[in-house]
Amino acid sequence: MEKFEVKAYGTYAATKLLEPLNIERRKATPQDVEIDILYCGVCHSDLHTARNDWGGTRYPAVPGHEIVGRVTKVGSGVTKFKVGDLAAIGCMVDSCRECLSCKHDLEQYCIPGNTGTYNGRDKHLGGHTFGGYSEKIVVTEHFVLKVPANLDPAATAPLLCAGVTTWSPLRHWKVKKGSHVAVIGLGGLGHMAIKLAKALGADVTLFSRSPEKEKDGLALGAGQVIISTDQKQMLEAKGKFDLIIDTVPYIHDVNLYIPALTVNGTIVLVGYLGPLDPMLNSVPMILGRKSVAGSVIGGIAETQELLDFCGEHHIVSEIEVIKMQDINQAYERMLKSDVRYRFVIDMASLKNESR
Ligand code: NAP
Ligand code: ZN
Ligand code: ZN
Repeated sequence: MEKFEVKAYGTYAATKLLEPLNIERRKATPQDVEIDILYCGVCHSDLHTARNDWGGTRYPAVPGHEIVGRVTKVGSGVTKFKVGDLAAIGCMVDSCRECLSCKHDLEQYCIPGNTGTYNGRDKHLGGHTFGGYSEKIVVTEHFVLKVPANLDPAATAPLLCAGVTTWSPLRHWKVKKGSHVAVIGLGGLGHMAIKLAKALGADVTLFSRSPEKEKDGLALGAGQVIISTDQKQMLEAKGKFDLIIDTVPYIHDVNLYIPALTVNGTIVLVGYLGPLDPMLNSVPMILGRKSVAGSVIGGIAETQELLDFCGEHHIVSEIEVIKMQDINQAYERMLKSDVRYRFVIDMASLKNESR
């Protein structure tokens, strides 16, 4: 298979910083779209992967799955895109396309497994996939999204992961006007969850450890902010929420939030991945028919639905644009929750780098 080289940033080990490296992309096949990456959002999953928090990271790791760019080539079989179009890539670049999940537009739950935009098995070149911290990406048409023309492309990039990861549970649990939704953690995912739930007509509450974020939470669309370390405020939240979206990236006590659910309410975990500690207590779940669920990103059709919804409602992410060369400092700041509310890399900084 023909290939070409592009500049990228990645890391060779969990304990190493990200550094300049070159990677290979396949030349566009008849089904492929080649995209010149303009912007790439910085997701906490990028950091988890780079540092092997979840195990299984393949090195060198080139993260980035909130990609917006300009189409530079299309294969002869491509019908939805032409050269010059704005296009986006999210967290997946392939799936089996045949299993029950794929047939129901749930490629994220592909039974043999979807191919992650990074750290997936590259079916074309062998080895593993490399993400959006790079100049260009080549992706099969089905996994390429259309970007509404009225949205700022840099601030649109985080919709591809932070946006759809919170949109998908809002849609699955049928959030609508009058629903009571709470969001735990005001970061990349959390701030999108507030904006999207609000736009769907829900009454939104933020649970945060950070009193200094209260003003922002309200400005983003929350009707109230509960400081999760304040026991009195936590007790007052009893029985209030139909759906709670938990975006906290690290181990924490999920039991604290279950009393805040209504009867039949659901808390959906989208942040922390792994065994819970302390363990879940079934008592409030059984006595209130409450559910604890999980959810991963969203399907391709659902991601397009989100992008179109954001176009109609003029919703984008709150961003701080950074240079590719500042990625290691950005990770440190993200760990301290010092980002309002998503870093987005301007890829011109990578293209201009002489190597
Ligand atoms: P982020 O921007 O760093 O935001 C996380 C927020 O959680 C922080 O702003 C903070 O909010 C709160 N928080 C952080 N550490 C905490 C701790 N130790 N205890 C309690 N609260 C804490 O991260 P993100 O990009 O939104 O990602 C959040 C998580 O979702 C990550 O683990 C990421 O890997 C995962 N993720 C999952 C999916 C999926 O498909 N399920 C997709 C994308 C990302 P406050 O200061 O307001 O408390
Ligand atoms: Zn992500
Ligand atoms: Zn499948």
